[in-house]
Amino acid sequence: MFKAVLLEESDGKISAGIQDLDEARLPGLEAAVTVAVEYSTLNYKDGMILNGIGRLVRTYPHVPGVDFAGVVETSNHPDYKPGDRVVSTGWRVGEMTWGGFAQKARVKGDWLVPLPEGLTNKRAMALGTAGITAMMAVMALEEHGVSPVRSAQEGGEVLVTGAAGGVGSVAVTLLAKLGYKVAASTGRQEAHDYLRGLGAATIVERAELAEISKRPLARERWAGCVDSVGGTTLAHVLTETAHGGSVAAVGLAGGNALETTVLPFLLRGVNLLGIDSVMCPQARRRAAWARLVEDLPMEKLDAITETAALGDLLTLGQKILKGQIRGRLVIDVNA
Ligand code: NDP
Repeated sequence: MFKAVLLEESDGKISAGIQDLDEARLPGLEAAVTVAVEYSTLNYKDGMILNGIGRLVRTYPHVPGVDFAGVVETSNHPDYKPGDRVVSTGWRVGEMTWGGFAQKARVKGDWLVPLPEGLTNKRAMALGTAGITAMMAVMALEEHGVSPVRSAQEGGEVLVTGAAGGVGSVAVTLLAKLGYKVAASTGRQEAHDYLRGLGAATIVERAELAEISKRPLARERWAGCVDSVGGTTLAHVLTETAHGGSVAAVGLAGGNALETTVLPFLLRGVNLLGIDSVMCPQARRRAAWARLVEDLPMEKLDAITETAALGDLLTLGQKILKGQIRGRLVIDVNA
């Protein structure tokens, strides 16, 4: 038996509770690996799933948790053997199949990556989906010519929106470490010192960017942007992105509609780069993990991480949807 957060549906309503489950209930999958989970983590998408928002889960009962890290117990996959430390992010684990808010998980071996050298399982989860997404966003900006040197020469800062959240906190830390001048946008007054501590040079009020721009092009402020908010914020940022600059669109915490014009693209050559860490190919995923180990100061990662237990998840799942979780929240499934 193992403990898990189990979501059940009745008359269209989702209820959640911690239950003891028999291992026979884990999904039967091809080339599967069964993992004794040590840590999981809370992402924005988990908040949606725990609260039955967005129809991300189609089949109940369901065990949520889009990320987990642990130790292989049994394996039908040639790359993994009992005792190996492994990490799972993406591939719709925790949505289409059972996930990591549990003491055991079973997934296809092809979805796993070995625990990256230099990380512990706990730090891998402090990074998790938010961490590799932030890294992939930075890689996409770099691939489109955004660099600390160019940004310094041309005077544009790199903006991070939703900066006090999970993706945002890792992105601010990474960009500052890589030598960018970082502007961090937040709606939380109390997060200003936190963001400066991560390396942000400038704080931008969330409300300033959330207004719909009256003009299709405004003063060029940003050499690049990692945007986890979407909606009117993304539309606003596009009007202020400098010539040849790039915006990595990561999330939709502020809405999924996008009302913009073609002018930032036609007259300023702005690139709008979509980031998908869920179905992203394994080679790029592993490259992102390796870059995180190389580029992210681990003491800063520890400083943005808090730990909670499985039993805290239901409250925390509501808090993340309200933008009330700061940094990264690791779930110790055995606590
Ligand atoms: P968090 O909740 O940790 O962070 C989101 C942040 O956005 C909040 O902390 C808050 O920042 C800001 N925010 C929240 N609500 C609003 C609002 N209504 N208007 C403006 N800003 C708001 O979530 P994550 O960092 O885990 O995820 C961020 C987004 O990225 C989510 O939409 C998520 O689904 C998406 N995502 C996408 C991935 C991909 O592969 N594309 C992978 C991972 C996440 P502050 O308080 O600083 O203002």
